[in-house]
Amino acid sequence: MKKILAAALCLLLVFIAILLVNTWRFTPQTSEVSITHVPLADGEGSVERLARAIQIKTISLEDETGDRDAFLSFHRFLEDSFPNLHEKMTREIIAPYSLLYKWEGSNPDLKPMALLAHFDVVPVEPGTDDLWTYPPFSGQVADGFVWGRGTLDMKATFMAILESMEHLIKQDFVPQRTLYFACGHDEELGGMKGAARIASHLEQKKIQLAFTLDEGMVILDKDLSPSREPLAIIGIAEKGYVTLKLTATGQGGHSSMPPGKTTLAILGRAIASLEENQMPATLAGPVGYLFDAIGPDMPFLKKLLFANQWAFKPLLLKVLGTGNTTNAMIRTTTAPTIIQGGVKANVLPTTAHALINFRILPGDRIKDVIAHAKHVIDDSAVEITIDGKIQSNPSPVSSHRSMEFLRIQKTIQQIFPGTCVAPGLVLGGTDSKHYTKISDNCYRFIPFIFGPKDTSRIHGTNERVLIENYMDAQKYYIQLIKNTSVN
Ligand SMILES: [Zn+2]
Repeated sequence: MKKILAAALCLLLVFIAILLVNTWRFTPQTSEVSITHVPLADGEGSVERLARAIQIKTISLEDETGDRDAFLSFHRFLEDSFPNLHEKMTREIIAPYSLLYKWEGSNPDLKPMALLAHFDVVPVEPGTDDLWTYPPFSGQVADGFVWGRGTLDMKATFMAILESMEHLIKQDFVPQRTLYFACGHDEELGGMKGAARIASHLEQKKIQLAFTLDEGMVILDKDLSPSREPLAIIGIAEKGYVTLKLTATGQGGHSSMPPGKTTLAILGRAIASLEENQMPATLAGPVGYLFDAIGPDMPFLKKLLFANQWAFKPLLLKVLGTGNTTNAMIRTTTAPTIIQGGVKANVLPTTAHALINFRILPGDRIKDVIAHAKHVIDDSAVEITIDGKIQSNPSPVSSHRSMEFLRIQKTIQQIFPGTCVAPGLVLGGTDSKHYTKISDNCYRFIPFIFGPKDTSRIHGTNERVLIENYMDAQKYYIQLIKNTSVN
């Protein structure tokens, strides 16, 4: 008995020793980057121009209704605001409100690069105008911020890119590789008319891009960051999207004599089964790379768990599965969004429908989601079909070890010192998905710092951007173009 106890104790000590050694070896991959000071020639003017960009109501043109003139006047506003850029760069108008700028590089042997942005914005939710501190399309400059719909998503980025190119052109800078600036006008509707057409236009010209850089992820400040430092996440992939329609069929008739299985109960059971049986969770792919990068900076206990995934993966997945955001990072999510059925309190409906929206993790495909739903529901009374036109498999995963990724990382650290940079997964959708055919390196990051209350401002009330951050964003794009447009 004593021998068994001694052996067990020995094993336990070995186990603890392995955990501790792995934790000790789990160190951040640091690279020494020095802060770079980038002077801005016209900081004050750039704030005025951003304010004017907000005042032009480029609300996405749903079903071809809406204010087309706003998009045309935005084009004219850009011409007036950036004269040097419009002289130096060529501009194509595509489909018919998106824009494609081209800045010819000095070395035609280098693959071109593309910065992506969109200038459409979502509308303000009816009835919420009064909740705004300043009117949503005023572009008010106050309290250190520029206020208004579209500041964060994503006119500040859009304008910072233009300011940086205008600045570099004025300084006679010439990129070695050709630089495209692709401006979509319908990202908020899926980008099918804008980004998709710009990408096929480039594809027809047989152009392959060294990399693309779009919105998607940001810098999380210390309060939001899971590590001890502010965290910049560069999205290397985005989730896919599909909505399934469940149609339940049952016996109709008078509600005074219901059958054992009513249509609505059949549908309810199907929805409940989907919610109770989620698709499998994993730490592989972009989210795994994220935790590999930030794990060493975490407090000891979390660091120990991430350093020893061979022992603690089931526990980690369970814990991550309890938070809405972390759950969305580790699995394809299931969200029932619409339910319809029945017309009168005393009539049994013969059919009822529900829509279930899935956001698909890289590794899963639309066909896997359908197979999962059929398997879990397992009821011949429920038909499962794809709903709507919008559907996409997850994007391919771009490398987080490529030269282009490392150059973006370096730029972030030059302008935002002390920031940890990691690859990650974009949980929503961006225009980037349309460019994966013409580039292996599609990255998603904008240089804006988000605190706990900022995420809800996107598409929400009191959207605003800190002027100081806007200045840094311009410096970031100037430095980024210098770092990436060379061989
Ligand atoms: Zn956006």
